[in-house]
Amino acid sequence: MKIGILGGGQLAQMLIQNEIAKKHEFLIYTSELASSTEQLAPQIIASYLDKIELEKFAKHIDVVTFETETIPVEAIEYINKFTKVYPNQKSLACFQDRLFEKQFFSDLEIPTNKFVQIDDNSDLFNAADQLKYPFIIKARRDGYDGKLQWHVPSKEKLFELMEMEKLQKCIAEEFIHFDREVSIIGARAVNGEMRFYDLCENVHKNGILRYTIIKGSDPLQAKAEQYLRKAAEALNYVGVLAIEFFVSKNQLLVNEAAPRVHNSGHWTIEGALTSQFANHVRAITGQPLGPTDSKGHLIMYNFIGSLDHKDKLDSLNMAFHDYHKLPRAKRKLAHSTLVAQSEFEFDQALDVIKRLIS
Ligand code: AMP
Repeated sequence: MKIGILGGGQLAQMLIQNEIAKKHEFLIYTSELASSTEQLAPQIIASYLDKIELEKFAKHIDVVTFETETIPVEAIEYINKFTKVYPNQKSLACFQDRLFEKQFFSDLEIPTNKFVQIDDNSDLFNAADQLKYPFIIKARRDGYDGKLQWHVPSKEKLFELMEMEKLQKCIAEEFIHFDREVSIIGARAVNGEMRFYDLCENVHKNGILRYTIIKGSDPLQAKAEQYLRKAAEALNYVGVLAIEFFVSKNQLLVNEAAPRVHNSGHWTIEGALTSQFANHVRAITGQPLGPTDSKGHLIMYNFIGSLDHKDKLDSLNMAFHDYHKLPRAKRKLAHSTLVAQSEFEFDQALDVIKRLIS
């Protein structure tokens, strides 16, 4: 089949670089030259709102998917006139806006932390009343990896922020003193079949995912799967979907969701029987999903801003994946995965990684 991908970063790169993808042809549509996929597929470089280019792209393609939720919904609506888009427009609209996302989970009675809609600065007093200090303000759209977020520990900080920023279209949310953070990744096929990966435990620093570990048999696995299934069915979702949770007192609270393959699932390339990328391609092309079992204890480490310490991780037998991007502060440049052959190997690698990011 001919598959179109909106966005040409590392997620598109890994969607193209897997065994299943070899059966298909790819075309990238990106708003700027994308170095991660430049060598892998032809690219149309144009605005996501350029109807002439979108039509040319869509008429060429059997199915379109996207690697980022920043794609304007109008682009999907227009492409839908010519070809199929998976995940569907409703899913993109829901998960690209933090307010709609939180409302969606609340409506489904899937627990999420308390939130308040912010349309202008005056709503912040109401937020402080309802949420108490500390709380967090997040832009409804386009914020990722801790960007467009403000921590508000006190009234003084709130006043400072109100002077500095003219906040519009945000949400304020309760700060969670979590015990850990986890994510569930699942795939849903066109016929409604679903498969889930092992729950991932994620460690962030300054709002950016630094590493993920998978040990299997997490006591919250079944609950997380139940929530992901409920969300995917409500949206008639097709493709890979990820939900990130805070864990507090052994309860899952949704932080956010992503209608796409997810950074915390990169370990599935070496570490699962079918990777999240292969299963996304299978789902959107109408194929049955592949088995998602893990191959052991796993660690995935993100290289942020530089490839420092690559040699150290290579010597631990970790598989390196380069995104072919120019180094820039806070930018995800590559990742490495360990499929541990023993508990000792896992503990040793985890120890090294913890020291690297401390
Ligand atoms: P986000 O972009 O919303 O996923 O936030 C990035 C990271 O910031 C999360 O993975 C958490 O580590 C932290 N964070 C975000 N929101 C909250 C919150 N309400 N309470 C505590 N930590 C948070």
